Amino acid sequence: MRQSLRLGRVAGIPVGVHWTVGVILLLIADVLGMSVLPAAREGLPATVYWTVAVLGAVVFAGSLLVHELSHAIVAKRHGVRVRSITLWMLGGVAELDGDPPNPSADLRIALAGPASSLALGVLLAGLALGIDFVGGPTIVVVALGWLALMNGVLAVFNMLPGAPMDGGRVLRALLWRRHGDRVRAAITATRAGRVVGFALIAAGLAELLGWASLGGLWLILIGWFLIAAAGAEARATIAGAALAGLRVAEIMTPDPVVAPSWTAVQDFIDTVAARSRQAVYPVVEFDGRLTGIVIADLLARLRPAERAGLRVGQAALPVPPEYLAGPDDPATTVSGRPPLGGVVAAVVIEHGRVVGLVTTADLDWALRRAAMAGGPAPAGPAGHETPAGHETPAGHGQPRS
Ligand SMILES: [Zn+2]
Repeated sequence: MRQSLRLGRVAGIPVGVHWTVGVILLLIADVLGMSVLPAAREGLPATVYWTVAVLGAVVFAGSLLVHELSHAIVAKRHGVRVRSITLWMLGGVAELDGDPPNPSADLRIALAGPASSLALGVLLAGLALGIDFVGGPTIVVVALGWLALMNGVLAVFNMLPGAPMDGGRVLRALLWRRHGDRVRAAITATRAGRVVGFALIAAGLAELLGWASLGGLWLILIGWFLIAAAGAEARATIAGAALAGLRVAEIMTPDPVVAPSWTAVQDFIDTVAARSRQAVYPVVEFDGRLTGIVIADLLARLRPAERAGLRVGQAALPVPPEYLAGPDDPATTVSGRPPLGGVVAAVVIEHGRVVGLVTTADLDWALRRAAMAGGPAPAGPAGHETPAGHETPAGHGQPRS
């Protein structure tokens, strides 16, 4: 999840929002300002309803943040690095770097989110009762009560037993403890996640067709998202297991054909690319230094005039530093992110020179090899998905998470 706006760091963890978080804020403000608050107390000026509604939406976003931070803080305590927390349309995502060390850590990290949502719900309910007791404004009491309920719903909804929901991670931790096989437990949890996803879609369709309620659309959206996320997590799990213990040198294409940056594109196509089977070429300078990559498919799309006029270096894509690897780096470090130009997982450099290339084909090959050696069967081409995040989808009707 790309952050559109960085809010800063909380407990050392970079926190940001994706632009789609605006959809939840609008939806919550709309539900509070148009129906919940006017129904509770009629005849107030519109500005009063909307002020309370907007504040309520901000508190709800804060609740999502507390939920994710709880996962992140417990994860950190168990030595799992947390890359970032991002709020988006369907809730929050805490991206964990690596896996929990043991089943009980896995269980604690998973339960931290729903437990904090539940605690926050109780706290908000207590606050609502307190303000009501001292005769405070009804609409503030109702708004706090509604937020308390939403936090309760958040806790319960997240305990649905399928990855990537928290309940799915609880299932994974329990299966892991029982059978001692983390990968198998994780795959089972993602299968359960698909089942939960299909069940939500069925419930959403029933709501939409049976009751003509648009809340059904929200359920269908969440179900669809869950199925996609469960599939991506299953593939990432399989990729992680297949690459575990391997070095980059063991999966790379060694000594790839390189493209001199000063050659004309047409010459390079005629002399090198026409004979090589590589889909991508590292571009180097006179001194052997890497300056970029060229993708064969992209060269093929250049017009004849461009091919004659451009040099290879001018047609090259830059290589961001995170796509550089050393031959002795763990192979898991080059998978689990979108490939560069759709093809390149990493360019392997040693002593300042290109010694290898890891492409999506190399990753697929490593997976097939692991599968043939008796590992779990791949569910599809893997190794190039986004990192397995910790997802908390918000709920239906009114967003929850
Ligand atoms: Zn959660």
